[in-house]
Amino acid sequence: MFDQYNRRINYLRISVTDRCNLRCTYCMPEVGITQIPHDQILTFEEIVEFTKIAVRLGFEKVRITGGEPLVRKGIVELVRMISNIEGIADFGMTTNGTLLSNFAQDLFKAGLKRINVSLDTLNPEKYSQITRVGKLSDVLEGLDHAKKVGFNPIKLNCVVEKDSSEPDALAVKEFAQRNGFIARFIPKMDLDEGTHGVVEGGEGGNCSTCNRLRLTANGILKPCLFSDSGFNIRELGFEKAIEMTIKHKPACGMINLSGEFYNIGG
Ligand code: SAM
Ligand code: SF4
Repeated sequence: MFDQYNRRINYLRISVTDRCNLRCTYCMPEVGITQIPHDQILTFEEIVEFTKIAVRLGFEKVRITGGEPLVRKGIVELVRMISNIEGIADFGMTTNGTLLSNFAQDLFKAGLKRINVSLDTLNPEKYSQITRVGKLSDVLEGLDHAKKVGFNPIKLNCVVEKDSSEPDALAVKEFAQRNGFIARFIPKMDLDEGTHGVVEGGEGGNCSTCNRLRLTANGILKPCLFSDSGFNIRELGFEKAIEMTIKHKPACGMINLSGEFYNIGG
């Protein structure tokens, strides 16, 4: 489907949970997160049914995100259900990678072949500072498992202050080259301020070619990360919600005062 600016909208990002085992400084407040009550979270059946309708309407690319997708109970089953949907050309997941050692093999067997792992630094102390509670070694082990199991491509999402010339980013770039991973550099965004930049090595951040819709864990379909607008798929019906959201996709987003990265999925 095309929006009013003639952009072909064919990429669906699904946040399967707003919960996370980390507390990255740029994504989550340290305390006081209001979590979506369990009974409001979309069921697997709803997610799969919605995805099937999106695919029928021309969506070809689907990414599972969060919060941290690997903390959603039964995630391997959900991956299996989505990978069985015919018509998805590109199916991936974005994860912080800390639980990947436990999940890589089962996810791969369930049909997931592409994975993006968030990694901002190779300095263990700095990693623990940024994530507040995370251990770098968990991610590195997770990446190792994912590589051995056969994930391809494995991309590294590296959040930078400005660009990839920063020392931590250079280290991530070098680590990626050494291991056959692809590094992408995401300028740190501020939803309240409306600051966003173009992703280096990726497609994100360029409004004129943006092809995405985002589904939150409680069923709000959002036309843009930098917009407060959203459409409830349960209230409107799945197809109508997709149509309305595409219709209301802004040329370029401004600010988002009601959402955070962890509940929209980045
Ligand atoms: N928990 C998973 C992870 O960290 O990969 C998936 C969800 S996370 C919200 C998705 C992506 O958004 C991650 O790559 C993360 O680095 C990025 N992100 C979060 N907050 C950001 C911010 N303020 N600016 C730029 N990227 C951000
Ligand atoms: Fe969790 Fe990902 Fe947000 Fe970090 S960026 S707090 S890992 S959802």
